[in-house]
Order: sequence, then structure tokens, then C-alpha cells
Amino acid sequence: YYLEPMGLFIKAALPPSLRGGSKPASIKRVVVPTDAGEGKDADLTKRQKELIELLRSQGPLSRKELAQLGGFSSSIVKRMLHKGVLREEDRAPEHLSPVSSPVPHKVEEIRLTEGQEEAIDVMGKSLGGYCTFLLYGVTGSGKTEVYLQLCAMTLRKGMGALVLVPEISLTPHYISRFRSRFAEKVALLHSGLSVSERWREWERIRRGEAPVVVGTRSAVFAPIPNVGLLVVDEEHDTSYKQETRPRYNARDLAVWRGQLENATVVLGSATPSLESYLNACNGKYTLVELTERVGDAKLPEIMVVDMKYEKAPISRVLLETMEEAVENGENALLLLNRRGYAPFLMCSLCGWVPKCPNCDISLTYHRLPPLLVCHHCGHTEAPADLCPECDGEMRIVGRGTQKLAEEISKLLPGKVVARMDLDSSGGRGGVWRVLQKLENGEIEVLVGTQMVAKGHHYPSITVGGVVFADMGLRMPDFRAPERTFQLLTQLAGRTGRGEKRGRVVIQTFLPEHYSIQWAKKQDFKGFAEKELRMRRAFGYPPFIHLTRVLFSGKNEEKVRTVAEEVAVSLCTDAKVEVLGPAPAPFSKLRGRVRWHLLLKSGSRVAVTRLLEGVPLRAKGVSIEIDRDPYSLM
Ligand code: ADP
Ligand code: ZN
Ligand code: ZN
Repeated sequence: YYLEPMGLFIKAALPPSLRGGSKPASIKRVVVPTDAGEGKDADLTKRQKELIELLRSQGPLSRKELAQLGGFSSSIVKRMLHKGVLREEDRAPEHLSPVSSPVPHKVEEIRLTEGQEEAIDVMGKSLGGYCTFLLYGVTGSGKTEVYLQLCAMTLRKGMGALVLVPEISLTPHYISRFRSRFAEKVALLHSGLSVSERWREWERIRRGEAPVVVGTRSAVFAPIPNVGLLVVDEEHDTSYKQETRPRYNARDLAVWRGQLENATVVLGSATPSLESYLNACNGKYTLVELTERVGDAKLPEIMVVDMKYEKAPISRVLLETMEEAVENGENALLLLNRRGYAPFLMCSLCGWVPKCPNCDISLTYHRLPPLLVCHHCGHTEAPADLCPECDGEMRIVGRGTQKLAEEISKLLPGKVVARMDLDSSGGRGGVWRVLQKLENGEIEVLVGTQMVAKGHHYPSITVGGVVFADMGLRMPDFRAPERTFQLLTQLAGRTGRGEKRGRVVIQTFLPEHYSIQWAKKQDFKGFAEKELRMRRAFGYPPFIHLTRVLFSGKNEEKVRTVAEEVAVSLCTDAKVEVLGPAPAPFSKLRGRVRWHLLLKSGSRVAVTRLLEGVPLRAKGVSIEIDRDPYSLM
């Protein structure tokens, strides 16, 4: 089932000259023979053990490289070759994988924390068989180190390992950590590769030359022979879901592949998805926890600012905290979550937002004509001018990163304020350049969308700010509280990774909202318990299976008619509840009108059976089916 969609296409499309390629001249490299068990190391000197350690982490090296990397003289190498603890072989120089960040020339000295040791011990025992672990580790608890050690164990057992990450271009450090441990044994797979690069990596994996594969979602199909370990880092991340055909969720496929190939699966996150957490509570997955940050680093201090009492969009507390940090040569991250933004109304005094009486989800504001619409069930109502709670004035809410960056520049004169989001930074390469600047100290404050909160490790960042936490909470999506909690916790996780404790300021009109309160306490379990109760009460995943059917076309009338017809045809099984049809929150995209309906059911099979009758197109209207949707927009 190695259906890697691109892979198959590439195989067919590549000219023969590219498929094989002539072999570069080989050179002699020193290797540790595979039969040299750990026990044999006993009568070696300390220096000799270090050399072996270097080879185990870096893979085969030439004598010259051994001298360069570890300062090992050729006499020590000769002595070990003579003893038979090392062997010299002819090896073609491996091409360094694309995205070649240089391999750092040092072997990290790491003493595992107690938590890490225990986690590695528990999960390592499962290697060779199937089990899915949920590794819940707070930000900065050293999850990556756990993955690295598990990968090494997997290799020692002669098996291969796959590590999925949400977005490679955002995590250059991540790659270099794998590279410095496993050198050319690492293959990288991600969307930034050219066709031939991708093909080369694919071949190295297939031939067993690169038994450690690090990649984004489609890497889940990588043809690793004898895979023993499947890691999904930041398993809650929505980028694991492919939103175009073929639709799949790489996290779920990893679990499935683990079952199929008898491999150990590790889903890691500081903010696990509720789906995975419920599975861990049910005993379907095994929960492993890392409760403390590595070293003396503490979790950051979080302050919640009630914006009802603030005059300016940047509160005094946030401004002062930022000023102080920047004066000390530290950095601040500011987050404004504007992506997927749908306008809504909010009371300017008390923060009240109109909600749907049927769905408990905020209503979306439509300008022409002014109307509040529920994008789940189709409920509509006229917008009120005044707040029913306090008579305050109702306002349309929205503010972009660009405007925010300008405002911050004015507030912090003479400081370098940069902006990072996919629209402004010129795509992925641009994002990476911005991060490089941050690392080189050329940026003092970084303003951006949710990608600023993703997985970075920059000890110079001591302050985090969430400009408007309500933005995410007001999205017409039942996952809004979960996403908000994740985002706030992940942003907090970027700060205070150095010696100094981080400080995070959350600006909101809803300081009492439970997702903000639990984020303030950085208590995932507390949040998860509360949120799971809500999900159960309102009949949302993970307690039911959700399916979305999306209808789109040029003609509104036809789209609606088809949606209604399909809805009727689906209302034939008592086990499946049909909601809608209703206009999708993005009711028009690229000139196409969009309607959707949602199916809720306790039975996946029942939904599958019903959906068999739904065509891909009808009357010029295209119909898309999304099982377990992440996006309801
Ligand atoms: P997480 O992925 O849980 O947020 P990381 O794996 O990125 O955390 O670890 C944070 C930092 O701590 C990294 O720079 C890593 O090299 C370092 N680190 C991890 N484990 C240890 C350890 N046992 N001793 C010292 N440093 C460690
Ligand atoms: Zn009000
Ligand atoms: Zn509704």
C-alpha cells in the first residue's frame, strides 16, 4: 500500500537517466561492525568508546572525517581496526540530503532526565510489536530527545524509524538534531523537494540506506523496509490532515500502519488532540508523561489581561513587558491569529457574542444584507445594534498582522519589528529567513499568525503576547476552545526556554473562558476533562463520528438544490443525524458558492453505507466528502 501519491507519479515520469544515475567514486570509510555488541565495548579505553559512539551516531566516516569531527588520530583508528572493533569498507559518499543544513560537528553530551529515561524505557520495550503511546510532555520537556533515543534503539534492533513533523521549513533545528545523530542515515521528505530530490530520497529509503525518515504528512507512506517505530510529533497539528483528494490524516494512518506492520507508534504533544487523549483514557493508547521542563527551565508565568478595561489594542502590561525584554536584549513574540478569520459581532463593553440557539456556536456576520448566520444548521437572525446583556454597542471584529506590526513599530521606536505569516513572508522560504534573522539577533519583536507558536526553540525569547485570544474562540467551529487552548499553550511554550523564566500576556475580552483559564494554569488535563464533558453533552467528536459534505458551484440555486436533495437522501438511517444544509462559513470562494451539511453518527459503518449513494458531481455542482473533518469553514 505504498501509495505515496507523488512517489508513484514520479516513478512513471522520471527519465531513465535520472532513475539510476552513475555511481560516484567510492572511498574508504570506517564502520562499526554490526556484530560488535555493546558488551564488547567493555575493554576499550574511554577515547575508543567515544570514537565508537561518534560512528554510531554519525554513520560510516572516513579517517579524515574522524579527525575533523572528533579529533581522532589515525593511530587510534588503526589500533581499533587491528583489534577488529572497527572495519574499513568501500562506500560511495552519500549525497547529503536536500535542505542541507550543515551537520553540526559535535556529539551532544546529554544526561537524560528521570522522566525521559522512564519514557524511553517504557516505549522501548514495545519495539518489535504494536502499541500506540501518547507521549504527553509539557513544552520543553525534551520530547525530541526521547524520539532520538527511540530511533537509535530501533536502528540497533535492525529496524527503520519514521518521524513525522508538521512543517519542516519551520523547524530547521529539528532536522539538524536528527542529522547530527544519524548523519546520512536520515532521509528527508517534504513538499519543498524537487521531483528528483524526492525520488532520490525515496530510493535511499527503499534500499534501506536511510532507515530514519523525517518528513511531513505524506512521508507516512515512505517505503521503509521493516519499520519498527512511527513517531508523530505535535500530533494535534492540523497539517497532518490532507485537505484535498486523496484526503487522509497522516496521524491516523501512522497508527494504522503500526498495527499493520507490527510497529510501535508514538504520538507526541504538549497539547494532545482530544481524540488521542480520549483513546489514552480508554486504554486504546498508553499514556506516557513528561511533566517537567528539562534542566532548571520553568514553565512561563502567564498573565491574562481583560481588554474591557484597556484603551489601546496593546495593553499597558504587554507593552511594558515587551519594552523591558527588548531593553535587555531579549526577544518577544506576538501572536495574532487571523487565519481562517470570519467576521463576527461583539459587544464593545462586555464582550458578548451572539450564538446559535441550536449549536452553541458563534454566529458569523454577513455584511450584505446585514445578517447573522449559523454555519452549522442554517439558523439566521437579524443583528442587534445593542448588546442584550448590557446595552453596549455591538462592533464587527477584525484586525490584521500588518496593521499590528505597524502599531508595534510606533510603540517601540528604533526596534526591529518583523512580521511572519504565509501571506507576507513570501511563502515557506521567507518564513525560514525570518527565523534565521531572529536567531542572528536581527529582529527584536516578531509578529505573526499561529506559525510563530510552532515548535521553535529560541532561548532568547522571553516574552510572548497574544493580542486577541478571542479571535480563535469566536470561530464557528466546535474545536474553537481546543484550538485556542493549544495555541496559547504552544505560544507560552516558545518562551523562557533559556535561563530566564518566560512571561506571557494574553489579551482577551473573555478572561473567564475555560480555555483561557486552563491555558493560564498550563493544565492540559484540566482543560481536556472540561472540554470532553462539553463535547459529550453537545454530541461532538471524539464521542461521535463527524462527516462533512461540501457542495460548491457557480450557481447558488443549483448548489442549494443539490445540497437539499442529498440531505434528503441521507435522512434514511436513524443511526445517522443530518444537520443542514447550510451555507458554509466561507460561503463563496473563488467565485464558487459553497454549502455544506454535517453528518453525526456513532457508527462509522452506517455513514459509509449512506455515503456510497452520494455522487461526486450532480447538475454541475461538485460534492466533496470529508470524514473526520478538521475544517468546517
Ligand atoms: P520539547 O520537544 O519537549 O518541547 P525539546 O526536545 O525541544 O523539547 O528540548 C528542549 C531543549 O532541551 C533542547 O535544546 C534539547 O536539546 C534540550 N534537552 C533535551 N533533553 C535534555 C537533557 N536530558 N539534558 C539536557 N538538555 C536536554
Ligand atoms: Zn454587552
Ligand atoms: Zn446552529
